[in-house]
Amino acid sequence: MSEKRHAEIAGAGFAGLTAAIALRQRGWSVRVHEKQPELREFGAGIFMWENGLRILKALGADQDYLSGCHEAPLMETRGPHNEQLHVERFGPERGTRMITSTRQHLFSSLLRSARVWEVDFRLSSEVLSAEPLGRLRTADGATFDADLVIAADGVRSQVRDSLDFGTRRTQYDQAVIRMLIPRDSNDLGGGTDSVINFWTPKHRVLYVPCNPRDLYLMLGAHRADAAAIALPVNTRLWSENFPCLAGVILRISNRGRQDLYETTTLSTWVRGRVAVLGDAAHAMPPTLGQGAGCAMMNALALAVILEREPNIDRALPLWEHTQRPITDHTQAVSATFAQSRAGSDGKSKWSDEALLTARSIPEGTADEAPSHFAA
Ligand SMILES: Cc1cc2nc3c(=O)[nH]c(=O)nc-3n(C[C@H](O)[C@H](O)[C@H](O)COP(=O)(O)OP(=O)(O)OC[C@H]3O[C@@H](n4cnc5c(N)ncnc54)[C@H](O)[C@@H]3O)c2cc1C
Repeated sequence: MSEKRHAEIAGAGFAGLTAAIALRQRGWSVRVHEKQPELREFGAGIFMWENGLRILKALGADQDYLSGCHEAPLMETRGPHNEQLHVERFGPERGTRMITSTRQHLFSSLLRSARVWEVDFRLSSEVLSAEPLGRLRTADGATFDADLVIAADGVRSQVRDSLDFGTRRTQYDQAVIRMLIPRDSNDLGGGTDSVINFWTPKHRVLYVPCNPRDLYLMLGAHRADAAAIALPVNTRLWSENFPCLAGVILRISNRGRQDLYETTTLSTWVRGRVAVLGDAAHAMPPTLGQGAGCAMMNALALAVILEREPNIDRALPLWEHTQRPITDHTQAVSATFAQSRAGSDGKSKWSDEALLTARSIPEGTADEAPSHFAA
């Protein structure tokens, strides 16, 4: 196929950026519409596993990413008084590394690659709708025609909702507050490089070093527990519940963003020339840390399958058929874990089933020997 093909993408999140780079790598012209006036992520952390690292390598973003992230020696479970309940190790012997970073760092690594591949961005460009023949319509009244339209505009996707994809959204009882705070070498009696889940019967604090400077905290509680999920964070309540973290919680100040756990499923990811990608298609509770991982897997796979099957009308259903089983599996396990508070009993939740996605070899990465940290 000699004629250059063109994609219009709604949303410059992890899904939209990955799709844009992967399509550019295969000769497409690509325009990404982002409704915000600038390209950036919000202040929280993110887990990447082996599947995500393979994709970053395929996109040429792995070295940049690995130079600014953290590989914790342990994932621990502790009680509110710092008592250790369980220890988990990841690495080659488990078939996956567990890497943590700020969301902005992952985003910047992808954005650098997007710049190298000369992806065209249109900022402050809110997409309102798509048409199955291959057209996007933006809030300023403009229309953009394409061989392929991608709705990667997140869990509240306007583009998805402008067409009938059979969308179902399920919300769970858990609410979380996320923020980044400075790391301190005096935390927990002398500092730690571990990722730690602290549990009480009702509350949870996830403690995640991201790099030498930044600590990601996620506070979890029932959505009806108004005092616990209030913003600004009720530091007194959280310090009383987790006395060993009092010094950490004091540093929260007025930081924090609140979200609910949610699963989104569509009866189809494809309508004509429109493909739905990432959280717009398959949001999931973050209990496996795989929402962005799946978004990136599906984005790369879309470009790979379109290269293998140049007929777009045949390629899109083939893409969905190939990718759905692992995505459905990941959503199902994530949802079960969200409902059961998996891990709070001090037992491992990291079964082979739970690690299936992390250990999988995403479409388009079979030849990619995984990158490692520079010695
Ligand atoms: C508490 C929590 C913790 C998580 N932790 C992890 C983790 O550790 N690891 C992991 O892999 N995943 C994690 N996830 C999931 C992950 O954050 C998402 O799966 C991922 O961000 C989805 O990427 P996306 O690009 O599909 O959507 P988004 O990140 O939501 O990006 C959508 C983009 O589209 C833009 N946009 C929205 N509407 C429009 C419009 N109409 N027009 C144009 N642009 C628009 C937005 O501004 C945004 O830039 C977590 C999720 C939650 C809630």
